[in-house]
Amino acid sequence: PLGSCVVVPFGPRSLVGVVCEYAKESDIAPEKRKTILRYLDADVKLPQELLELTFWLSNYYMHPIGEAVLSAIPPYFRAENPRPVSLQWIHTPEGLGLPESALKRSKRQQEFHRFLLTHGSCSSEQAKQNGFSRSAIKALIDKGLVTTASATAEPNASTLQLLKEPAKIPNEEQQQAISSVRFHTFNCSLLHGITGSGKTEVYLQLASRVLQTGKQVLVLIPEIGLSPQTVERFKQRFNAPLVELHSDISDKLRAQNWLDAASGKARIIIGTRLAALSPVHDLGLIIVDEEHDSSYKQQDALRYSARDLSIYRANKLNIPIVLGSATPSLESLNHAAEGRYQHLVIKQRAGDAKAPRYTLIDLRNTELSAGLARESLDALKHTLAQGKQAMVFLNRRGYAPVMLCHACGWMSDCMKCSTSMTLHSNPRRLHCHHCDLRQSVPKQCPSCGHPDLQIKGLGTEQIEEQLQQLLPDTRILRIDRDSTQSKTALKSSLATIKSGEACVLIGTQMLAKGHHFSNLSLVVVIDADQGFLNPDFRAMEKAGQLLIQVAGRSGRETEQGQVFLQTHRPDHPLIQILIHQGYNRFAKHLLAERELANMPPFWHCAVIRAESKRAENAKSLLEKLVEIYQRSFPPTLSTAFLGPLPSAMEKVQDRYRFQLLFKAETRAELKQILIELANELNSSALAKRVRWSIDVDPVDSV
Ligand code: ADP
Ligand code: ZN
Ligand code: ZN
Repeated sequence: PLGSCVVVPFGPRSLVGVVCEYAKESDIAPEKRKTILRYLDADVKLPQELLELTFWLSNYYMHPIGEAVLSAIPPYFRAENPRPVSLQWIHTPEGLGLPESALKRSKRQQEFHRFLLTHGSCSSEQAKQNGFSRSAIKALIDKGLVTTASATAEPNASTLQLLKEPAKIPNEEQQQAISSVRFHTFNCSLLHGITGSGKTEVYLQLASRVLQTGKQVLVLIPEIGLSPQTVERFKQRFNAPLVELHSDISDKLRAQNWLDAASGKARIIIGTRLAALSPVHDLGLIIVDEEHDSSYKQQDALRYSARDLSIYRANKLNIPIVLGSATPSLESLNHAAEGRYQHLVIKQRAGDAKAPRYTLIDLRNTELSAGLARESLDALKHTLAQGKQAMVFLNRRGYAPVMLCHACGWMSDCMKCSTSMTLHSNPRRLHCHHCDLRQSVPKQCPSCGHPDLQIKGLGTEQIEEQLQQLLPDTRILRIDRDSTQSKTALKSSLATIKSGEACVLIGTQMLAKGHHFSNLSLVVVIDADQGFLNPDFRAMEKAGQLLIQVAGRSGRETEQGQVFLQTHRPDHPLIQILIHQGYNRFAKHLLAERELANMPPFWHCAVIRAESKRAENAKSLLEKLVEIYQRSFPPTLSTAFLGPLPSAMEKVQDRYRFQLLFKAETRAELKQILIELANELNSSALAKRVRWSIDVDPVDSV
């Protein structure tokens, strides 16, 4: 059947493929046709709906259909010789009620029944060890006494009450949001509420209604390591089988969860971007939490947006979708403003919590210790003295972003990239964050031999070290990608924070998302200008979102939080608007700018990137595309291009990178251009020597 996974010969190898279409006739000579070697497990199959979704992906994002289809299949099944997923058997309630002495007529069935009574469950390994036959187990399944269970699904959930804990009584705004969502038809709602305003509670109550009707709920979250709490909240609330789909679980478990989602055994499916391509049995609702998060957009290979895909999917399935955020993307805000999405706003924080208070700290001519201005440091000490927690935010890991020789000007540039290598102190080394090159730290200048090299700029490790010197008795926790290499390290840091112990957290954007820190009352942003200087057309939007998200970590319970923003440009109009008038006003300003500049969400755009070891190759390929575009399309006011230009990071891993941006007033026009250019890219000899990609609706353009 269509969607089945098969093993097919491919040269000397055999590979997993998916049946996408049947041909009645073929131009390929019979002797050249290949035969399917075998089918994978009958369960491993893309449902029609998912198969069509991947066709749409391939078409919309201009990506080869093979990769689009395969991206919907868990890696476990893509292996050349996938073993069957290990199964677990458990009793159904009927089976559980059966005495040990039952099933006398079949000794084999009785033995299995007894095993389950003593052990609760039986894995396929255990079945093998104990010599239980598949046919005996199958007979018990057919009798309704035994069923399969995945590791995470709660057994016998159907017999229990759906709610494990009582739902909160929604406040007026939450109630308004909940009752605005219509359940049996497609509608897209933007749930827009500050951090702590009770959006998750709204998700839970919407999910509850859908689960009660026996349908499944799909919940997307940005990155699992950063937002384990959403998963926990769903587990805490519902007695329904829940499976997770993300890359933090083993391939095998992910495959099992995928099967449970497909069969409908899993009622709640929760995961990251890749879960948007989960098979479903009877889906009733999709929730996309933190919809503005750029991790929803895949940045390589198939460059799809899991959020946009989900909206398309909800439309096809004729079900509701809810996009939630404290800082919605300009796209979604614009859709809401134009009435395509319902705009559901929660202004109050749930309970008594208040919005944070902002203070701008002018960094000009200010002396800093540990990156902090006098006022920031005083506030920090004051916070600690009150037994509260403070957070110092800097989106730059490592000790210092660059080393430099004061005598000759040498800098710790990466040999392979157009950027400098970051100095790390533990372990001590130079590390390129772009190509991962690591080097030992030179004792003297590699260029002139001068003995003392200097460091420039601040990273989280340096702040940690200096702050510990200033506050020797204070517990300081650093949370960034380096300090959380091990999951236990992150867990233990988060546990300390949760305990409420007075301490200082130092962190990168890992800390900006999702976490509830109830005793955190001060946030200091070391360098509020950081994101505002980037030339990307979304840089301002992202910088504003990040600041609001970071600020949202403070004062979540009853007390008002304080946010200190250290800046060299306290008069910057956008920072002023952001903190005095709020994110909405800020977003309106940016939208007006985008409209004037004919940029998304008003026009549509795509970036074609090219990279090669020889810069000319990448550049001339893009120049060729411009030529074709100008030849094929008469000049118009509704399309435009920009480039080819070197990318902001001009060289990465010895490859020179260029890019070309196309934009058009309508999607149809953009598509026409891309189809024309893709022809060239798929056929020209030059294109074969260049790594190129088409990025439709890019999240960054530099
Ligand atoms: P968000 O997802 O917008 O950050 P949450 O749903 O996590 O907000 O809510 C923040 C806190 O307020 C949580 O501790 C939650 O349990 C609590 N809360 C949410 N809604 C209500 C309500 N209606 N009544 C009481 N407490 C609530
Ligand atoms: Zn030197
Ligand atoms: Zn590098």
